[in-house]
Amino acid sequence: MTKKQLTLKQDMARVCRQIYEKGLTYSTGGNISVKLDNDTFLIKPADYCFGDIRGKDFIIINKKGEIIEGPRGNRPSSETPMHLTVYRDIKDVNAVIHAHSPNTMVFATMGMAIEAATTFAEEEVGFVPVAPYRVPGTQDLAEIAAKTLKSVEKGLYPPPNQPAIACLLEKHGVLVAGKSLMKTFYALESLETTARTILWMKVLENSK
Ligand SMILES: [Zn+2]
Repeated sequence: MTKKQLTLKQDMARVCRQIYEKGLTYSTGGNISVKLDNDTFLIKPADYCFGDIRGKDFIIINKKGEIIEGPRGNRPSSETPMHLTVYRDIKDVNAVIHAHSPNTMVFATMGMAIEAATTFAEEEVGFVPVAPYRVPGTQDLAEIAAKTLKSVEKGLYPPPNQPAIACLLEKHGVLVAGKSLMKTFYALESLETTARTILWMKVLENSK
């Protein structure tokens, strides 16, 4: 294992813990990956909780999703096809996070796109459309999610101030792809905060 890989694994574990501690996903839901080069990727193993994962648990896979290196018994995330399809179809993406963020899930479940409500959300993630429902873990979901992200890319990506793009997965969760692991994490956090802001705005509007 190279020093770069070791550092990235530790960074990924740290981001996973922050995602869990900030309530951006729960239980074993969600997954995360980072591009190492054009042929190899680091990805979270299936059945691990974001709150418990350590750097040494991550797996290196190739473009086909085959294991190159990883701890015995660990299987790549069930959403590996979705991660690989995003890397295949969208240039300049170096990290992908899929999460079941509770406030964002309200919009995903209702099939409602999210528009940036604050200046900060505009800069970090921008407009977030909905990918129509497909069965989790399938190539079908991977294709529709990548296509929906691509529609964002065409309009907005990559302007200098928006280092990540995102879409909602109907009745399921959120998918964020970005130029770096940290930018992708910040976009996820920003999106969940935006979703919460919009929900509270609706509460206040209705209480007038
Ligand atoms: Zn999921």
